[in-house]
Amino acid sequence: MNALAQVPLAPMLPVLFVVATVVFVLQMARHLRIFAAAQPVVFSDQPETRLRSVFVYSLAQVRMFRDLGPGLGHAAIFWGFVILVVGTADHVTLGLVHSIIAWPLDGWLWRLLLPVQNILAVSVLGSVAYMLFRRVVVRPRRLTLSRDGWTILLLIGAVVGTELLAEAFQIGRYGDPDAAWSIVATPLGNALSSVLPSGAMELGFDVSLWASVILVCYFLVYLPRSKHLHIVTAIFNAFLRKVRPRGELPAMDLEAETARFGVKTIEDLGWKDLLDGFTCTECGRCQDACPAWATGKPLNPKTMIMGLREMAVGAEAGMSLLPWIKPASPAPGLTQPIVDTAIPFDAVWDCVTCGACVEACPVLIEHVDKIVGLRRNLVLEESRFPAELTSSFNAMERYGNPWSQPASARLDWTRGLPFEVPTAASVAAAGPSAVSELECLYWVGCAAAFDDRNKRVARAVVTCLEAAGVSYAVLGQEESCTGDPARRMGNEYVFQMLAKGNIATLDRYKPRTIVTACPHCFNTLGNEYGQLGGHYEVVHHSTFLSRLVEEGRLRPDRADARTMTYHDSCYLARYNGVIADPRSVLGSVPGIELREMEKNGRGGFCCGAGGGRMWMEEDRGTRINAERTRQALETGAQGVATACPFCLVMLRDGLADAPDGQGKDILAQDIAEILAASLPPGGHNGRMLPVLTSPG
Ligand code: SF4
Ligand code: SF4
Repeated sequence: MNALAQVPLAPMLPVLFVVATVVFVLQMARHLRIFAAAQPVVFSDQPETRLRSVFVYSLAQVRMFRDLGPGLGHAAIFWGFVILVVGTADHVTLGLVHSIIAWPLDGWLWRLLLPVQNILAVSVLGSVAYMLFRRVVVRPRRLTLSRDGWTILLLIGAVVGTELLAEAFQIGRYGDPDAAWSIVATPLGNALSSVLPSGAMELGFDVSLWASVILVCYFLVYLPRSKHLHIVTAIFNAFLRKVRPRGELPAMDLEAETARFGVKTIEDLGWKDLLDGFTCTECGRCQDACPAWATGKPLNPKTMIMGLREMAVGAEAGMSLLPWIKPASPAPGLTQPIVDTAIPFDAVWDCVTCGACVEACPVLIEHVDKIVGLRRNLVLEESRFPAELTSSFNAMERYGNPWSQPASARLDWTRGLPFEVPTAASVAAAGPSAVSELECLYWVGCAAAFDDRNKRVARAVVTCLEAAGVSYAVLGQEESCTGDPARRMGNEYVFQMLAKGNIATLDRYKPRTIVTACPHCFNTLGNEYGQLGGHYEVVHHSTFLSRLVEEGRLRPDRADARTMTYHDSCYLARYNGVIADPRSVLGSVPGIELREMEKNGRGGFCCGAGGGRMWMEEDRGTRINAERTRQALETGAQGVATACPFCLVMLRDGLADAPDGQGKDILAQDIAEILAASLPPGGHNGRMLPVLTSPG
């Protein structure tokens, strides 16, 4: 007997479900109309990577498991809900789904589904209880229990609970030939029927079945307005994720006369940015990872994304649910500035573009590109930026470097070396292709050319190159800033000016490989110059040096008996995945014992200098470099190694300012300095090497 047919007003079950589905679709269509008002974005590249992302991040939810307890709870709820939808579909089709699934294989498919559904129903109920416990009792800082959060968790629990009860009442009252497979519902139904009369069992079945269908319908109507819409959008967000290099900011056409520069309103965002907003689960993992938030600054990547979603939803409020009814006037939310609505002005400038938020986000939301988009608009259209940036912009525009130094000083760091550092111009005198025949072009970078501390790093790099017998040259006066700080501060005009000049120079010499000790130059030359036609093989010095050691061309043999911790540069490790090479260089030096900080590799913590912050005052909250130095000191290491000129300066300053003089005997050094100092004294591979003094 089909028990579903006995339920009062049974024919209304499918009708109610169809009405709820129509309301769901209309609300989703209204979201799509807001997407249509945003900028077009086309996704046609790397379909395999995109599909893999759906499996890895959306179905297997690998990022959720970085926090094991919540990860398991979330996976149970997600998969439980997916499988339990089959039961709901069976109810609203009055048993049709059961008949279809049971039809092949003589009913075995249905029988196998029953215990899975039963186990998942219990897992979902347990997970909902755990989630509520975390939010009400444990209360991690990153989580907030909003009314929406309560509503959804209770709804999920109620839908699954009423479905399980309906199955139990049905088995207990009407029986079921497959009852043995319902490993939870059958004992529950038997227990209920042993204490309740048959009339109460029938009533229990009717009420729980109707309740489960009403709750599912309410869920459908409610979902498009909830953060739990990510159940639907996360799959699309994973497919449409950024698959280009993480460190590549979106290209910008400065010649487009009618275009708005950067992002001012949600209309200026791409529709994928709005999808990001509708996908945010409010989990707060980005907030937890953000160094600006951790040091008490107003920037919170979570509230920025939530703010963008609220603006989009606000813009929808002026639209009718029915697409054929046009609004009398454009939705005001569409033209409202994002800055000071979704994110405060100061917070836009607090970002160090470290990418920790993007790395932490389980649903692959891109925060950094949006923040830089806002900066572009503030700089290029409104001239609203921190006052101290004016001198940096002017310096880059006039002198080609943020230090305001003349190009003639670019080789000052070579003074006192016992060998001559060849320039590309001098090498090219031997013939037009002479530079391209060299093993590498050493891209020194502005920091190593003009900052006294980093000049020592440049000397160490060429010492290693000389020692290994590498044929190389530097650009000297022909080198300019890559434009990385200008680009990340939103000044695309200065970036493109510098980049085009450098590309013209590089294209003239056609170097085989560019080696640089600066992760920012490395990222910009390798990942961003392609947008302007410059395509080069760029290698970070950590990779190049580790190869030289591996090939036996460098043989460090002077012991350096120290415990050292290594600080990962965001633009090296997180953005470009260079994690093992600097550690391998350190590991090649006899005596060094590496002690990792808790936050390392892709999960490293910024030094505070990225995103142009090197040239801005840090007057909100505490200093980011002080926090990173505290983490380094926590390891008890006797030295701090880096592979980035900016990290080096920030950590050196952090150690100098550490409370109670804790950092006074600890040196911050670049890996090239440590390696060069461990090479045999007085010469290596027959070459004369300089005596490298301690930076003190
Ligand atoms: S990029 Fe870094 S500083 Fe900027 S919002 Fe993300 S985590 Fe915070
Ligand atoms: S942006 Fe990502 S990490 Fe941040 S709260 Fe939303 S879902 Fe979580």
